[in-house]
Amino acid sequence: MIDNKVNSDNKWKGFKDFIVFNKVKEDEAVTSLYLKASDGSKLPEFIAGQFIAIRLRNEDNTLTKPRQYTLSMKSNGEFYRVSVKREEKGFLSKKLCDEIKIGDTLEITVPIGKFILKDNGKPLVLIGGGIGVTPMLTMAYDAISSGRKIHLIYSIPNSKNHSFKEEIERLCENNNFKSNVFYTRPNETDALRKDFYIKGRMSKEWMIDNLPKDGDFYFCGPVPFMKDVYHNLISMGIEKEYVNFEMFESGEDITKE
Ligand SMILES: Cc1cc2nc3c(=O)[nH]c(=O)nc-3n(C[C@H](O)[C@H](O)[C@H](O)COP(=O)(O)OP(=O)(O)OC[C@H]3O[C@@H](n4cnc5c(N)ncnc54)[C@H](O)[C@@H]3O)c2cc1C
Repeated sequence: MIDNKVNSDNKWKGFKDFIVFNKVKEDEAVTSLYLKASDGSKLPEFIAGQFIAIRLRNEDNTLTKPRQYTLSMKSNGEFYRVSVKREEKGFLSKKLCDEIKIGDTLEITVPIGKFILKDNGKPLVLIGGGIGVTPMLTMAYDAISSGRKIHLIYSIPNSKNHSFKEEIERLCENNNFKSNVFYTRPNETDALRKDFYIKGRMSKEWMIDNLPKDGDFYFCGPVPFMKDVYHNLISMGIEKEYVNFEMFESGEDITKE
């Protein structure tokens, strides 16, 4: 059952110190950071799909500009997990992936955001392109115990970018959960294991044949991917009320042709 009320216990205002207690490389570019409150306090619950803002204190005591990172593991009261894609020309993502070590301190806000799962019982379709899979993971974890049908679609270039593979395979052990992975540019070794993925981009024809018409759709990913998904869903006749998305990059209106 999804509880859309956030437990406000232990909430704080502004930023609070958190310690990185684990760091896991998920694939070539994505690293997960596991964060605990420095003062050992319990954490406020969050709603699947929400994010935190993170900033770092520089050596000269100045602060970096905050960036947002979606929580990528089910709310548990003890720790938060964020999964950061290293942007070659980015500032904070590179620092978080390359420089931050276990034991280091980050400053974070409480979880916020309106891209959250609606508890309407409809078949749930979660579509993640690349790092846009992070909100889909928490939504899947949240919805799995509700018995609601869940279909996770994950589009990535190839196995080198295949984060959370084992985690998603474990989710597939639930009868109400299924997953399809698209490799848009499989490499040579992937070709030997092609039963594990669908080659190419998710086409409108595939969506028509494989996705429920009465579903509730959530998606996130690179802008061109999101534009395709949005316009395909609308042309399939899905009502806008059931077309939910989050932008990781600002500036483009994906609803415009
Ligand atoms: C609600 C929300 C949730 C998010 N969740 C996640 C998440 O779960 N995981 C995640 O990895 N990200 C997430 N993001 C994106 C994240 O907040 C950052 O925008 C991202 O990590 C890039 O930050 P940065 O400091 O590394 O890049 P910035 O320095 O802010 O640069 C922004 C972009 O510009 C490009 N750029 C910078 N300088 C140049 C240059 N000179 N030439 C060309 N390009 C350049 C960078 O490649 C980068 O893509 C989320 C964003 C939002 C709004």
